[in-house]
Amino acid sequence: MSARHATPLQALLVDDAFDGDVYPRESMARHTTYRIGGPARFFVRVGSLCALTRLVAVCEEQGVPWVVAGRGSNLLVADEGFPGVVISLGRDFRTLRADEEAGRFYAGAGVMLSAVVQEAFQRSLAGFEFAVGTPGTVGGAIAMNAGSRDEWIGSRVVSVTTLAPGRGLVRRAGDEVAWGYRSCSLPRDEVVVECELAAAKADPFYIRGKMEANLAKRKKSQPLNEPSCGSVFRNPEGASAAALIEGLGLKGERVGGAQVSPTHANFIVNTGDATARDVRDLIELIQERVEKAHGIQLTPEVRFLGFE
Ligand SMILES: Cc1cc2nc3c(=O)[nH]c(=O)nc-3n(C[C@H](O)[C@H](O)[C@H](O)COP(=O)(O)OP(=O)(O)OC[C@H]3O[C@@H](n4cnc5c(N)ncnc54)[C@H](O)[C@@H]3O)c2cc1C
Repeated sequence: MSARHATPLQALLVDDAFDGDVYPRESMARHTTYRIGGPARFFVRVGSLCALTRLVAVCEEQGVPWVVAGRGSNLLVADEGFPGVVISLGRDFRTLRADEEAGRFYAGAGVMLSAVVQEAFQRSLAGFEFAVGTPGTVGGAIAMNAGSRDEWIGSRVVSVTTLAPGRGLVRRAGDEVAWGYRSCSLPRDEVVVECELAAAKADPFYIRGKMEANLAKRKKSQPLNEPSCGSVFRNPEGASAAALIEGLGLKGERVGGAQVSPTHANFIVNTGDATARDVRDLIELIQERVEKAHGIQLTPEVRFLGFE
């Protein structure tokens, strides 16, 4: 690429000093648990905070859309792809340190949540059993306030550090963040870079028992062998999205290669050749039917990327 014709973004991405791996026109199907999604203009795995800061600054200056993706386990990416930069947090964001005495984990946002769950178990530290079997990264879990009906990651956050475009690093105590149902009050344009998580010493048999019970429940009730994004809709106040969908006989309903899972009605699975459009149309079909039958508007939990 000639430097003369390069945009500032292209110039940064070809700079030898840039600490990141750059994949132009990278299929997002490779980076989502749905295995669906068209190409990102650039998929960039940044290795350091410096690289992340430079990349975000250039995108902001140039008006190039950008987004951070974790494991893509809650993302539906349009078939047309994303006309901007998808940032993945690499090397320096993948460190996990434990202080057993203090009952603390210090986790980079790119660490897999499952690594925290396993590490906690190894050290007889309780508090993360609810997350067993939840795919995704620590950063994605915080952004989504991932959890079960009764427990969620936000209640474990002692502090969280983000990169705020134009401001640099911002550290907030966990109780300065409002943790909602699959949401949190952190601004959408801030990147979670690391956090401190609280755990408590406990009997390892107690921890293992809780983990096994949660995993068994998951295996029994969720289609874990088929590509999905987990629960598609939030549970409406006082109701279960799955029960509403199942009650309308929609289990097994299909649009193209997308199907309402016969195992769990709040999961839409990719049966092999589903497009993002198929999934989106099935989501809309479910919303229309539930609205018509019950007057309830189901809100998607899955995040959409690249759609109009
Ligand atoms: C089989 C299956 C089971 C699941 N079970 C559960 C469950 O029990 N409970 C639950 O809550 N969820 C569940 N999920 C959904 C999903 O795993 C969680 O929402 C997870 O926390 C998403 O993490 P991720 O790293 O994959 O994020 P992604 O899907 O990559 O991103 C999700 C959102 O977070 C943002 N994001 C990601 N990283 C960062 C960051 N570092 N800084 C700022 N924003 C960021 C993205 O921009 C996007 O908006 C399940 C999914 C599957 C496939």
